[in-house]
Amino acid sequence: MAYLLHHEGLTGALRIFGKKPQMNDADLLKRLRKQLGEDAGKALNSLLERYDYEPAAAYKGWLFSYIDANICVDHFVIEDAKKFATPPRSMAAIAQLLSSGIQVAKPKPKARSDKKGNQTPAHSSSKTTPPSSGKPLPDHQTQSATTQIAPANRWHDPLAVCTLRTAGLAGKTGAMFGWTRNGGKKNHQGIDLAANPGTPIYAVADGIVYSKKSPSSSYAYGNTLVLEVGINDLPEPQAAEFRRINPNARTIGFFYAHLSGLPDTPKQIVKSGDVIGKTGSSGNASKMTSIALGAHLHFEVRLEARKVATGLANRADPLPFIVNCTNR
Ligand SMILES: [Zn+2]
Repeated sequence: MAYLLHHEGLTGALRIFGKKPQMNDADLLKRLRKQLGEDAGKALNSLLERYDYEPAAAYKGWLFSYIDANICVDHFVIEDAKKFATPPRSMAAIAQLLSSGIQVAKPKPKARSDKKGNQTPAHSSSKTTPPSSGKPLPDHQTQSATTQIAPANRWHDPLAVCTLRTAGLAGKTGAMFGWTRNGGKKNHQGIDLAANPGTPIYAVADGIVYSKKSPSSSYAYGNTLVLEVGINDLPEPQAAEFRRINPNARTIGFFYAHLSGLPDTPKQIVKSGDVIGKTGSSGNASKMTSIALGAHLHFEVRLEARKVATGLANRADPLPFIVNCTNR
């Protein structure tokens, strides 16, 4: 909301919420052209097409996506793990709640597959709630449930909200897999997903969980578990990704580290979406007691689930397996 006010000014914001008369079409088109920059002609046509050539709807659609792409609410939530686990509302949903009689046209589905998508800035299109036309928007919980169920029946991301860690690193790249640390001089064996200690972790697919308490205070991973999954129990997108890396494999491992809570028994059969433990700050993350201090789930993909190997051996990039990542 603060960003919307900053961008539009008070009068503009009141217009957006239907509390003041809308600008005329010519002015709206002028504004859009200015916002879309260099490639304005092409981008503007494509945007207008998505909104049935209604400049007011197109402007709101553009603005809401723009704000969602620029403001990541997760970055402002530091202490409250519960709030952090709830996906942020899209700007369109907030506008709908605050508006009197606002009409935000739904973009046509066809335009979503537009090659360039340059009418919708950055990464916003895949995760924002499409503007609704009149119908009440689903409440927050419903949105969250849809996000988890829609992509595939047998995959569940390891956290309810997956956001690459940035705290304590030069940027999100340092939270990614590979030679991403110390300016490319040091490797990182998985990805770091920001989470306050105590955040539930989920089985990403059906399989067997092997958990292990930290063997010593100097063990970098702390409390860990590995979920071994048969390739046939992976949904197709994840199975295809793994076959590409490891064509003859029959199983795959998903490794979770720095945990605070582990399953009751060291070996457990689980279903996709089961809570299998809690994030923590065990191992070399002991000073990372909040997201602001770098708290995270360290998550790896292992070619052989229970094989121990150093460096990047026996590992693959986990990020392509994650369905919803807020800042990939
Ligand atoms: Zn890590």
